Amino acid sequence: MAIEPPSLALHRRGIHGYFQVNSQQPAHIQAYDPESFRELGHQLIDRLADWLADSASGKSPQVLPYRSPDDLYAEWSEHLRSEAHDPLSFFETILNTSIRLHHPRYMGHQVAAVLPLAALADLVGSLMNNGVGVYEMGSPTVVLERLVVRYLTQQIGMGNSAEGVLTSGGTLGNLTALLSMRQRQTGGRSWEQGTTEQLSVLISEETHYSILRAIKILGWGDAGAVRVRVDSAGKLRQQALEEAMARAMDQGRRVIGVVANACTTALGKFDPLPEIADFRDQHDLWLHVDAAHGGGAIFSARHAAKLAGLHRADSVTIDFHKMLMLPALVTAVLFREGSDSYRTFAQNAHYLWNNESAEWHNLGKRTFECTKSMMGLKAYAVLCHGGPRIWGENVDALFAISQEFADLIRDQSHFELADQPEANIVCFRYCPVGQAGERMNDSQLNRLNDSIRQRLTEEGAFYIVQTTLRQRTYLRTALMNPMTTQADLTELLHRITALGTQLEQEVPHADAAET
Ligand SMILES: *Cc1c(COP(=O)(O)O)cnc(C)c1O
Repeated sequence: MAIEPPSLALHRRGIHGYFQVNSQQPAHIQAYDPESFRELGHQLIDRLADWLADSASGKSPQVLPYRSPDDLYAEWSEHLRSEAHDPLSFFETILNTSIRLHHPRYMGHQVAAVLPLAALADLVGSLMNNGVGVYEMGSPTVVLERLVVRYLTQQIGMGNSAEGVLTSGGTLGNLTALLSMRQRQTGGRSWEQGTTEQLSVLISEETHYSILRAIKILGWGDAGAVRVRVDSAGKLRQQALEEAMARAMDQGRRVIGVVANACTTALGKFDPLPEIADFRDQHDLWLHVDAAHGGGAIFSARHAAKLAGLHRADSVTIDFHKMLMLPALVTAVLFREGSDSYRTFAQNAHYLWNNESAEWHNLGKRTFECTKSMMGLKAYAVLCHGGPRIWGENVDALFAISQEFADLIRDQSHFELADQPEANIVCFRYCPVGQAGERMNDSQLNRLNDSIRQRLTEEGAFYIVQTTLRQRTYLRTALMNPMTTQADLTELLHRITALGTQLEQEVPHADAAET
């Protein structure tokens, strides 16, 4: 469908409402008026507080006011052409027409329901816009970043030489870690000289696609990622690692590292880290642990044991914008040997090789970003205002409600639980039993569950996602929101059952022979 491009006449438009200051001044100076900012800011915070209250209490009837992409594009094109542009009503429209992650019935992607304090820190950082790549460009925030990073390495028990940085997301964090892996495993030559060697990394079948992308970006091609089969619990095991490593070597690849998951994205499974670290030791590899999602469990007394052995990793990524409740994107990349952090992008590797006391305070030397947002400010603000306790309680609550949800699912014969959850990710599917006890085959069930999830999204009362496991479509929930209760989950199952019963008519049962 052809959609008209937006009007190009916008530059002629005046600035209304918000900027009613001194018309003697040019618009770009008026636009900085502090008093207009103050007034709008106060009004906006009030609106945000109301939005938070409506969302978190579940008072707002919808999690997701779903509109089709084309309809929404047409509507906003109209808005762009219209004359009335009041910033407050614009923000309000965005609030009221977007998905609400604070709603107890938000159970979709692994993104946090943000702590209000962290959002305020984000606002402060946005106005200040300190670039933090260079020490003077945000000195206190540079220091806060190091304190946050070291707090994490201590909490994990990585030892005194550990170091790290904050970066923009787990994807970039994983790439950063793999770059460091390559530097060390090739004796620091690869950054300057490139690599002609056929390098490979062992990864589990369940590894997040960001690792695959990083491997491709590094130029190692398909064979750069040696996929290791997981056991029946979805975990990497030493035996399978040995076999995969032997296979890769037979094919002339040099294996330089292994990536473990804590936890996996689809099912939330924690790989056995001590066993994988032993394997790393035996073969002189680099162990990267992708703890983007599950890393937050280090703050839970009850669940930290799932990350036992994490301190032995050479590098670890942990997202703050998942279970640690910060706005996106804030990710810690941690290195057991701090010097590895300095070698990642070392233009002059030999210099750094001999000089371990490289400048920790010029963060840009160790991150992909040149200018980056004030991540340390956001993380520190939460860290020193109850962070560790809030994080621990959050993880406990999310993991506990996930167990309860699994029990609810198991109690109903027309649902099938994909696997017992270890974290806050629960996958299941609707699989009805016919009058005569007959069941649908997998392709019918896939279609049915697909349609259920589509309907749920369009209705907007719940938000969940889906995933494919063993060629089967499962409904997937990441319980990210501590406001979600058992009642919400019971309601979700009721709604799925009702939709499933309706939609079943459209997907006829297979005869017994087919099942
Ligand atoms: C979320 C996630 C990522 C990607 O992180 P982003 O912050 O979304 O870039 C990588 N690995 C795992 C295991 C994840 O859960």
